[in-house]
Amino acid sequence: MGKPTGFIEFLRELPSELSPVERVHNWDEFHLPMDEDKLRTQGARCMDCGIPFCHTGNLISGMASGCPINNLIPEWNDLVYRGLWKEALDRLHKTNNFPEFTGRVCPAPCEGACVLGINNPPVTIKNIEASIIDKGWDEGWITAEPPAKRTGKKIAVIGSGPAGLSAAAQLNKAGHWVTVYERADRPGGLLMYGIPNMKLDKEQVVMRRLKVLEDEGVTFICNTEVGKDLPAEQLLKEYDSVVLCTGATKPRDLGIPGRELKGIHFAMDFLTANTKAVLDKSTNENFISAEGKDIAIIGGGDTGTDCVGTSIRHGCKSLVQLEILPKPPSERAANNPWPEWPKVYRLDYGQEEAAAKFGDDPRGYLTTATKFEGDENGNVKAVHTVEVEWAKNEKGQFIPNHIPGTEKVLPAQLVLLAMGFLGPEQPLLDALGLERDARSNVKAEHEKYTTSIPGVFAAGDCRRGQSLVVWAINEGRGVARECDLYLMGSTDLP
Ligand code: FAD
Repeated sequence: MGKPTGFIEFLRELPSELSPVERVHNWDEFHLPMDEDKLRTQGARCMDCGIPFCHTGNLISGMASGCPINNLIPEWNDLVYRGLWKEALDRLHKTNNFPEFTGRVCPAPCEGACVLGINNPPVTIKNIEASIIDKGWDEGWITAEPPAKRTGKKIAVIGSGPAGLSAAAQLNKAGHWVTVYERADRPGGLLMYGIPNMKLDKEQVVMRRLKVLEDEGVTFICNTEVGKDLPAEQLLKEYDSVVLCTGATKPRDLGIPGRELKGIHFAMDFLTANTKAVLDKSTNENFISAEGKDIAIIGGGDTGTDCVGTSIRHGCKSLVQLEILPKPPSERAANNPWPEWPKVYRLDYGQEEAAAKFGDDPRGYLTTATKFEGDENGNVKAVHTVEVEWAKNEKGQFIPNHIPGTEKVLPAQLVLLAMGFLGPEQPLLDALGLERDARSNVKAEHEKYTTSIPGVFAAGDCRRGQSLVVWAINEGRGVARECDLYLMGSTDLP
């Protein structure tokens, strides 16, 4: 540890970002780079704890969870402090195939588990991670490293999100020939079509990494939905193993009167078409515009936030975001020894932008929609809402009771449903005859990833349900290890 007193000497500092008023005029990322001296002092704030919860949390069951991929955080914090960037990059790549993705979009459970966070703001781990990997790319240190030897085994990975990509990267590293099938026109899963460009740049960040994977020998076949464009049985016959990484893409719907009206869309249809238009530099018939409209977003999570940021950039007229849960507590509970960040109430980037434009956080907590109202042409024109209070029913389950007298009618010509996902789409799983768990995810034991069909593995959101990029990377690396072991009888993959 180069600077034992760093945590006493230096305050937490994050990179500056373009103001919410400036950044909404384009789709560019808005965090500005931090200069190296500042990054070094931020790295010096790490206390190099005896038990670094930031990176070991996942190993200790029941503890506040740190990094799901066990990033060697204290090590690279110190290397950054000492100006040893290349060494820091090597340590970072040991546990994480794609730090440029997590360094941008991870909610950073590592910072929530940082011991310094007990009585001080935690180390800026996420920003240090992003800075190491960005420097690596800028310096040209990241180049294709194809395996020296090929095993002759062929593996099909279905789905090219972070789980499929990390599985492909690791299996390719082990010398297998890997083909990734993707139904979208571009690989990347939710990294490409889901998380918007201003949070994660597609051309400069996602495609740059995809190119390295291709140069290392991974084959991508897009515009191919397995089970529809290509029979699943064909893959079982042609490949030595099949790895399912199809995500949890089935959206939760809202079955209230008026749902059939035009102008009510699932969030993912809105976000996907938008990113495609940004990348293609033109819109197609699937594009959904928020321009000049009153927008109602139903769901207060990350997907809802991305709809807020996207609607603001389209130039919407007004915007509300309904959330049935209460506003998170801003104070730490007296009996809670752990730092609550990032679970505290905060304005995410989209709400910041909405507040800058319309004067307030657009989220209405403890509020639900009861009905959509249409005009004479069948277009949605308003959403009826009511406030709720949660109470236990006779079975002891919490249910949201409507509070009489709190009803409102809000104008809305575009409604976006962002209420989470109900697991993987089922047709491919049906076609393969795979066992499911009680939540309709692919049944595959944690850390084994083996399904009910020998040689077929499952990882990422299709196995664990809707989660995070960092967990998808954890599972992609894990499934690669198990698949390699299955094919070769032993494995050197970490
Ligand atoms: P996915 O990324 O969903 O990829 C699955 C891929 O499989 C898709 O490309 C799909 O087209 C393809 N596919 C499915 N079926 C077939 C088939 N039959 N044939 C061929 N291809 C198929 N997490 C974070 O950590 N930070 C964030 O900021 C964040 N923001 C998010 C924003 C949105 C709008 C959403 C929806 C999610 C967000 N998440 C975020 C969650 C995160 O993106 C997911 O947990 C992660 O992408 C899951 O990875 P995956 O590889 O399992 O699946």
